[in-house]
Amino acid sequence: MQNQTMNANVATKRCPYCGENVPANSQKCSHCGEWLVTRYGKSWVKTYLLCCFLGGLGAHDFYNNKTGLGVAKILTFFGFCGIWPLIDCILILCDVYTDSEGRKLSRKPTIEGTAVFCALGLLGGAGMHRFYTKHIAIGWLQLFTFGGFFIWTIIDLILILSGKFKDADGNLIKG
Ligand SMILES: [Zn+2]
Repeated sequence: MQNQTMNANVATKRCPYCGENVPANSQKCSHCGEWLVTRYGKSWVKTYLLCCFLGGLGAHDFYNNKTGLGVAKILTFFGFCGIWPLIDCILILCDVYTDSEGRKLSRKPTIEGTAVFCALGLLGGAGMHRFYTKHIAIGWLQLFTFGGFFIWTIIDLILILSGKFKDADGNLIKG
């Protein structure tokens, strides 16, 4: 009876990890300690660019407080001559690279940033704007087809600049 009264007054949700009821606004389960919300860490754009240009020095790992992995890249002769940073680049593009606390990388795509990434497709690195906005499968498709032989890239660029481009969650990319 006591329990029912409490439930009537305080909105609860069920923890998907242990099944206990916790207050609906909980960020972390008070029973098992699992996080109930997606937590985001450092910038996706900065991590990606650091990995592309300074990945052999572990710059993206240091940026995300993964000091050990950063040092390991240097000690293994720039991450086995760039193979390791290349794998990290792929993990970042696939949105599975996490920081030292297991948090996913954060991003707030703007029209300007998305357009710059899209324009890179005209130089040969197509699909980056798709990865940036979490259209990951289309990103790979565009990367390997040179952005549909540039046509797809140009169409996307027009959509982005006219404010009609959406991220993978269906949100319009804004300025
Ligand atoms: Zn729990």
